[in-house]
This record gives sequence, C-alpha cells and structure tokens, in this order.
Amino acid sequence: MSIATQEQTVVDNVEKHLYIGGEWIDATEGRTLPVEDPATGEALCEVADATPDDAKRALDAAVEMRDEWRKVTPIDRGEILRKAFEKLTERADELALLMTLEMGKPIAESKAEIAYAAEFFRWFSGEATRIHGQFNMAGNGVGRVLTMKQPVGPCILITPWNFPMAMGTRKIGPAIAAGCTMVMKPASQTPLSMLALAQILEECGLPGGVLNVVTSSSSGKVMEPMIRDPRARKLSFTGSTEVGRKLLEQASEQILKVSMELGGNAPFLIFEDADLDAAVTGALLAKMRNIGEACTSANRFHVAEPVAEEFAKKLADKMGDLKIGRGTEEDVKVGPLINQDAVDKVSELVEDARGKGATVVVGGHEVDGAGYFYEPTVLGDVSPDARVLSEEIFGPVAPVTSFESEEDAIKAANNTEYGLVAYVFTSNLKRAIRVIEGLDTGMVGLNQGMVSNAAAPFGGVKASGVGREGGFEGIEEYLETKYVAVNMD
Ligand code: NAP
Repeated sequence: MSIATQEQTVVDNVEKHLYIGGEWIDATEGRTLPVEDPATGEALCEVADATPDDAKRALDAAVEMRDEWRKVTPIDRGEILRKAFEKLTERADELALLMTLEMGKPIAESKAEIAYAAEFFRWFSGEATRIHGQFNMAGNGVGRVLTMKQPVGPCILITPWNFPMAMGTRKIGPAIAAGCTMVMKPASQTPLSMLALAQILEECGLPGGVLNVVTSSSSGKVMEPMIRDPRARKLSFTGSTEVGRKLLEQASEQILKVSMELGGNAPFLIFEDADLDAAVTGALLAKMRNIGEACTSANRFHVAEPVAEEFAKKLADKMGDLKIGRGTEEDVKVGPLINQDAVDKVSELVEDARGKGATVVVGGHEVDGAGYFYEPTVLGDVSPDARVLSEEIFGPVAPVTSFESEEDAIKAANNTEYGLVAYVFTSNLKRAIRVIEGLDTGMVGLNQGMVSNAAAPFGGVKASGVGREGGFEGIEEYLETKYVAVNMD
C-alpha cells in the first residue's frame, strides 16, 4: 500500500459519528466539523459536530446505564480494560499514524503515546478488583465503623489535543474500573483518536451507554448545560488553567466532584554538581517531547552560574540537529505545532525575550512553507522579566537563566502560579532532598526528564489543578466513600 493510501485508510476506518447509547449517530441536522493535518494545513475529514441537544442525549444515555453498569462485577469490568489494552497494543502502528495525522507529533512519539495510553487500561484493569472498604471498632469500642467505596455516578470527561489518546485512557480507565458511566468530549482538533478508542472499547465488549463520545466545535455551549445538569456527578478536565477556572465555576452549581489537570510552567534545575551530559539528555526529553506541547514540558532552565553557558551550548547543539518535518517522514524529530496561533504565540515570546536582552543560541524563527512549524530554539541570558519565563510556551523553545545559590534556585522555581512538575539534576543526594522538599509542585523528575507513568499519581498543585490521575490515587477520583455507623448494642 502506498503511503498516501495507508494514511487515507486509517482515516477512513474511523467512525465519524457521535457515539451515544452504543449507537453511532449523526449530529443534529447532520452537522460536521473539519479535522486538519497541522503539517499541511489540509483537511483530513469531517466528524459530527454535536449541539447542546446531542450532548444532552449523551448524558441521558450515561444516566440510563448508570445502575446496570455499577452492578457489573469488578472482574468483568477489568477484563474489558485488559482486552482493550491488548487491542491498543496490537494496533499501535495504525493508531500512531492516525494520531500523527491529526496532531502532528512524529510517529515514534505517537507510538510511545499509544503504549502509555494502553498502560492506563492495564493498570486500571487490576485496580477494578482492588476497590476496598474498611471495617473497624470505633475508638470508644461502642460501635463499628464500616466504609464502602461506590462509583461516583455519571462523569463528564474533557480532554485536550496534545495527548489525544493518553489523556482519554487516563480518565476512561479508572471510570470503567470504578463502575461509572461517562460522556467524553475530546478536543475539536483531535477527535479521531478518541473515536478510534471508543470503537476499540465497543469491540472489547463495553456495553453501550457506559462510554458516550461527543465531538463538537462549540465546546462551551455544548458542555455548560451538561456540567450544570443535576444528574452529572463528576467532572474531570484536562486542559488550560483558563478554561479550568471557568469549568470549576460551572461545576460549583451542582457541587460536582472535580479533577482538574491544568497548565504548567515546569522549572528545570541543574546544579553545578550534576552530570551535565545526563542533564542535557534529560533536558532534550523534557523540552522536546511532543514538540514542547506538553503540560510537563520544561518551560525554563535554571542553571548554576558556572555551568550555564556550557549547558546552553550543549543543548543548542542537540536541538539544532533535530530534523523538522511532517511527523510521518523518517527521522523527523520535530513536527508542526497545532495551529498558526500556537506558532504566533511562540514567536511573540521569543521576540519579547530578545527585546529584553536574550541571546539566541540556536533557532529563533518560524519555518516558511505549509504547516505550522517553529525551529527548536535555545535562548541564553534570559532576563527575569521576559514573558517566556512566566507564560506556558507550549513550543520548542528553551530559555536558559542562571542562579547563584540553592536558595535562589528554589525561589526562582517556585516563582509561578503553576505547580505541576519540576526537574532537578544534581549528584548530591542531600541537596536533592532539600530542593525537592522546597518545591511547590505535584511531581518532580529527579535526574530524569520525564515523569509520566500509569502506576504513578500524576497531577499538580496551585493553578496546575486538583486531583491525581494514574497510580493508586487515580481510581479514588471516581469513587465516593460511604460510611456506615454500625450499632452493636
Ligand atoms: P483548552 O483550550 O483548555 O482545551 C481543553 C479541552 O477543553 C478541549 O477539549 C476544548 O475543546 C475544551 N474546552 C475549551 N473551552 C471549553 C469550555 N468553555 N467549556 C468546555 N470545554 C471547553 O486546552 P488545550 O489548548 O486543548 O490544551 C493545552 C492545555 O492543556 C495546556 O495548558 C496544557 O498544559 C494543558 N494540559 C494539562 C495536562 C495535565 O495533565 N495537567 C495534560 C495535557 C495538557 P475545543 O477543542 O473544542 O476547544
């Protein structure tokens, strides 16, 4: 099969409808929205464009299935997830191509995301059978304390475009394991991966109505009535802090249980005693994974003054060597950004830093031609008031600044409204512990440039959100604790 035919086939194989109550249906009046390839700016296909009425139907389906689904045994729920893990793994190549076409990341990274996404299903297939309550004697010995965990109820799940599959499985996995029904709304730029995932879950025996998927170009209008509907019990959102704030307000009406995985501004700290080459390798991963379009992306590099220049040069050498191009092409390491707005934002931040005295060690330009490309860029001597240090870049730009002392490094790292993740490179264990204890973040990468792991609790503090996804904590977000006071008189 030629490459173009192969691309067409994976797109054609995806259902383009809304998935409601186990049926693939048109949106009201047959409305559709276009999906484009950010590497070319050309349309790939059209998918259903849901209206608020369609979304209400999706919630109706989740509500109708609620009681039946919660009675399905934990083993059976886990088996569906386990089968879906296997299917995702078997079909990784085709799903990776689909993801690259709609999102732009290089194929190897898409494959890594499919593997990461599948791991949430494997992890939560086991967790389904490990939902525990407790039984103990009350402190005064008079009665007994019994607690049980129950599914929270119909969930509303909203995901971003940057990890179109993994951000979905990180929510759907624990929701299925806990016995919840749900309505999922993927990002309008990348609906195909989620639709393909829904097809896989259907093939693996997930009963209709447990997972409902609505794709829409007017997310605000479509989601707000659902979030304010008293039948919904939970909202789990991954996306920007700006939208997260709005949704928290809406969720307060029905006092929904909420999980918010929001924006980041990760500091990457390198101390003088660090293995500098290992720090460069970690920096490349933390900066360039997903073309810098990750909430965990290293947003700023704070480097001990004596090694700052050497680090910037070494990182620039590596970043300058990365091949830019369409993610489907061989050896490409840097795909397009998601759209022109993203390129404009990156350009603006680089120009602002330059205007405030930063040196451009490598890169610094938008790439001419079709698609939304920006060169991998390293900025040196970045002034503390440059916007690139305080705003989420979401692109392939690494600003480097230096610090004099450990205290200054911690202070600089914490000087942000965000608190998702930080990276620390040092070979001194006591320093590592001191610095980690001083960081206001939900996660830390110690001498490594990536923290994502299905078995670990992922999440942030401050404006980076509330709640954790993955790990033992992940399923708790979909459970309520009921306490029973047992009379023993
Ligand atoms: P976004 O604009 O906040 O959108 C995220 C999702 O929310 C999309 O599905 C979007 O739909 C939807 N949405 C937008 N406005 C809405 C509204 N008023 N009501 C209901 N839904 C609405 O974020 P993004 O640009 O897709 O993603 C990038 C952001 O996500 C970054 O800030 C990144 O740090 C964050 N992120 C965080 C994590 C984490 O785990 N902490 C992980 C990945 C990404 P449309 O596509 O239709 O706009």
